[in-house]
Amino acid sequence: MYKSKNSKVQKLLEHYREMSLLGNILAILGWDLNVNLPPKGSEARAHQISLIESLLVDKWLDPEFKFLLEEDIDEKTLNETDRAILRNLKIGGKYYFKVPKKLILEKSELTSKAYVIWSEAKKNNRFKDFQPLLQKLIETERLIAGHLEYKKNSYDALLDLYEPGLTYEFTDELFRSLQPTLTKLLNRITNSSVYKMSGNSMFEGKTYPIELQRKLADFVLNKMSYHFDEGRLDISSHPFTTELGRHDVRITTRYDLHDFRESLYSVVHEAGHGLYELGVDSNYANTPLAGGVSLGIHESQSRFWENQIGRNPLFVAYLQPVLHAMFPHEMEGVDINELSKYVNYVSKSLIRTKADEVTYTLHIILRFEIENDLINKKIDVKDLPDIWRSKMKSYLGVVPPTDREGVLQDVHWAHGSIGYFPTYALGNIYAAQFTNRMKKDISFDEDVRHGKLTKILQWLRKNVHIHGSLYMPNELVMRVTGEKLNPKYFIDYLEKKYSKLFIS
Ligand code: MG
Repeated sequence: MYKSKNSKVQKLLEHYREMSLLGNILAILGWDLNVNLPPKGSEARAHQISLIESLLVDKWLDPEFKFLLEEDIDEKTLNETDRAILRNLKIGGKYYFKVPKKLILEKSELTSKAYVIWSEAKKNNRFKDFQPLLQKLIETERLIAGHLEYKKNSYDALLDLYEPGLTYEFTDELFRSLQPTLTKLLNRITNSSVYKMSGNSMFEGKTYPIELQRKLADFVLNKMSYHFDEGRLDISSHPFTTELGRHDVRITTRYDLHDFRESLYSVVHEAGHGLYELGVDSNYANTPLAGGVSLGIHESQSRFWENQIGRNPLFVAYLQPVLHAMFPHEMEGVDINELSKYVNYVSKSLIRTKADEVTYTLHIILRFEIENDLINKKIDVKDLPDIWRSKMKSYLGVVPPTDREGVLQDVHWAHGSIGYFPTYALGNIYAAQFTNRMKKDISFDEDVRHGKLTKILQWLRKNVHIHGSLYMPNELVMRVTGEKLNPKYFIDYLEKKYSKLFIS
């Protein structure tokens, strides 16, 4: 494990190590909760989790630790690694140091209520049932933002909690340049005759036995070099990745008996997250440098494997004989072209989690604009269903017939996660920019075509994974690609890939 030559930094590291171990224990409890827990065990588990969580908060608020961290350590005397450690601890502690404990507890009480009420409201398609709690949650988030630091816009304080340094201004400019281009591309695709002739009808009514889908997952995981001596694949209602300790990073999936894409691409996505965690320098284990640097960069790794590799028509062609061997009856008569279109099918869909690469960012832009307007009191919670419908109409050209398929679809607001959504879109943009750079260094297309993924993983390890949280997201992108985040690569990638598939 990394040891600092500076005695103060070393003391902070020793204190942090226990916080990190408590985090690992929480991960074990959470993993078991989502994978194994019998329903009647949930109340006892909630108590266990809340005890460890409060121990962790106490560790952050430990007066000696806080004093040491806030004391001015002459940064010039520190090396790059120590400076990054201090920076990350300050970022991690900010929420606990600046937001009054009373407000933190109020929020957690509110969100535990909100989850239940939101899921009922969604089930019954009644936004009004969720509206008062959402109103309170937004007010709480405004108060929290007020305690945190920001320069121009209070929404910045919330964005920064999920993607350090991210601002409204930067994201807004990025999204303003993307939205019309994406909407135009979407319309070009859906209006083209090639698209209109392609459909998923030949995949309807098929059945893919779960044990074979699991074999397919094992095959792809092995190709990706995600191995079971430091990981696991289990089933949960929502796929996730979690680090339980160094060399113990587990992923989950869910199966759809009639659609192999559901599990296949969940597995590839989550393994992308997993490989990032596993690839961090071992010396950083249980230090503030362990783990991915931000949600956006993390998502770039999962989206890279899911889309740039998994849905890449070259890789789909490589997988085709494997799919045919596993599901000979279901795959009968399906050629590479049809398979590629099936796994990349574009549609004006209502649900973010089911969206394709072209429409996904549009779903995020809509949420980002609404969150900013809510936090800045430009719109009222009661008007959300209408605002949602009108933005869907102008960006995607469809209007959700129910709030269940509209404003009530995501869990994030009920969790109190305001400012989280943009990280998903950033992930796609980072991923395209990394891929563009990677193609200059290695024979990417050839490797993907032959299902040889080791050099690709090595490139990611060397350029991204190994650094853990040493560099801030913007620094990392600059180091890896020589420029700051640039949406051009994402747009070029989409134009090229989807024109070929659905337009010409
Ligand atoms: Mg993800």
